[in-house]
Amino acid sequence: MISRVSTMTKKRIDIRKNDKVMVIAGREKGKIGTVLKLIPRKDRAVVEKLNMVKRHTRAGGKSAQGGIIEKESPIHVSNLMLVCGKCAEPARVGKKVLEDGSKVRFCKKCGEIMDK
Ligand SMILES: [Zn+2]
Repeated sequence: MISRVSTMTKKRIDIRKNDKVMVIAGREKGKIGTVLKLIPRKDRAVVEKLNMVKRHTRAGGKSAQGGIIEKESPIHVSNLMLVCGKCAEPARVGKKVLEDGSKVRFCKKCGEIMDK
């Protein structure tokens, strides 16, 4: 199956689980973390140790103790950028098809393939 290359300039970010990403906007700007979970429906990703929010838990019910827990809050993917392992900095990512037909993402700067 051949898919036509889109000429649209709409920014679509292809972030996957376990990717290393940098936050490029907001409170956590400049921080790097690993993607733990994706929420495609909302275009958001949960990134390890980033965008932590405090949640109050109430005593009673299942937990015996109430208190405050910190939890990662999902970050919108437009605020994230993939980090190239070789350049060790946020990279512009391209896509190409390998000889075996698999589609991979690569760093436009150094050519490093990001899908292993
Ligand atoms: Zn690179």
